[in-house]
Amino acid sequence: MGLLENKFIIVTGAAQGIGFSAAESILNEKANVLICDVDRVALEIAEKKLSKFSENVIFSEIDIRSENSINQALDKVKSWNHIDGLVNNAAILDINNVETIAVVPTILRRGAKWFASLGREKNTGTKIFCISGNVNNPCNVEEEMSIPLKELIEVHAGGVIGGWDNLQAVIPGGSSMPLIPKDRCETLKMDFDACVEEKSGLGTAGIVVINKDQDIIKCMARIARFYKHESCGQCTPCREGSGWMWRMLERMAKGDATKDEVDMLGDVTTQIAGHTICAFGEGSSWPQFGPNCSEKK
Ligand code: SF4
Repeated sequence: MGLLENKFIIVTGAAQGIGFSAAESILNEKANVLICDVDRVALEIAEKKLSKFSENVIFSEIDIRSENSINQALDKVKSWNHIDGLVNNAAILDINNVETIAVVPTILRRGAKWFASLGREKNTGTKIFCISGNVNNPCNVEEEMSIPLKELIEVHAGGVIGGWDNLQAVIPGGSSMPLIPKDRCETLKMDFDACVEEKSGLGTAGIVVINKDQDIIKCMARIARFYKHESCGQCTPCREGSGWMWRMLERMAKGDATKDEVDMLGDVTTQIAGHTICAFGEGSSWPQFGPNCSEKK
């Protein structure tokens, strides 16, 4: 019997793209699959493409991001009577990205307990860290969750250029996360909870190392310029606010800003975060909040 035979797997976002490929592979392994997707047309196309598996696959428009989605999915499984005990055997595969897909075979081979034993409570498994900026060996590396930041930088990225004492700050989770200053990087564990405790976030685990050779204000102005450029312009706080932040930071970098503008920059960030349609508003303003972002929210 194959590894997945008679298992029941709920695959989300699976009517197209990588989610569809994953669902098809799982069906080829003789598992039973509930395909969830919010796109009804894509679901109809997927249903036709997977007609040869009709005994083993059902489709649903359940929006897996909604609060009751898991219960809705399990209700759907219960309504599908052709195999007893499916619910007890159900697993949910939330297809979001390549990182998720890539780790599935190893979890199936070595077992969920092994995977859950890595890292620390509520922060288990592995993570792909992308380390860039002022390090000797920028790299992508898969490591155990909760690995100390210092170990990650020194073992895999060849250390900070100029040595650890030349570190100024780190962005731990991609440019949309607040900076963590050097003194708090000493003991930082790279996981979700530890980064939140430092008023930042693990985000994409895209670590940007900034050493003391850099003008930190210029770095933040450069990040603000990126977000100003990328705003789609639909919401006023994001469209206008991203430009305000960028222009203020440019003035600060040149030494042309007034002291009042420091607080004004903080005010602008709070007018953007939580006031936009998509998370881009938070993404553009959180880096400018600085390390006290959650207190300012
Ligand atoms: S918050 Fe999102 S939707 Fe609104 S303007 Fe910015 S990018 Fe566009």
